[in-house]
Amino acid sequence: MILPVVAYGDPVLRKKAEPITKDYPNLDALIENMKETMHGALGVGLAAPQIGLPIRLFLVDTEPFAEDEVFTEEEQEQLKNFQRIFINAEILEEEGDEWAFNEGCLSIPDVREDVFRQPKVTIKYQDENFKTHTEVYDGIIARVVQHEYDHIEGILFTDKLSSLKKRLIKGKLANISKGKIQVDYRMRFPLMKKKR
Ligand SMILES: [Zn+2]
Repeated sequence: MILPVVAYGDPVLRKKAEPITKDYPNLDALIENMKETMHGALGVGLAAPQIGLPIRLFLVDTEPFAEDEVFTEEEQEQLKNFQRIFINAEILEEEGDEWAFNEGCLSIPDVREDVFRQPKVTIKYQDENFKTHTEVYDGIIARVVQHEYDHIEGILFTDKLSSLKKRLIKGKLANISKGKIQVDYRMRFPLMKKKR
């Protein structure tokens, strides 16, 4: 089932999300629905707060990036095969000199900006079977993981922009919250006027 993606301005996107246990109700169905929602919107990641749940769960599937010719063949192969479910994730370390990458977000349609982040990340998480893993990622995969991880910390990529950039996109963000935007996937807008 495709779930509506929560738009910029909804308080759920600003909460520090809570850990979950194996007993979280209907977790398998939730993960399936989130996958379907992410793929339906052509996203490379989706975090639970983006579908209205303040829990520490996010998915990453970088396959849609694999066709992009800015990446080397080796990178494309990696991107094609990177699918993960991150539960109760914790970033242990970020390393290296910050680099810029043009980011977007399903909750902030039509806004794309260069964001600076460190290139290498060590993350500890549980998979869908609650098995614990510690993995190190770099490059574009690290980037997607960092973006999604920020969602469970209540942080959005627009928070990381310069104050000038923030001022420039302020109106656009306000319109997104009000639903004054064309999107081709289901969304829920916090400030949309209810139709009678
Ligand atoms: Zn996002």
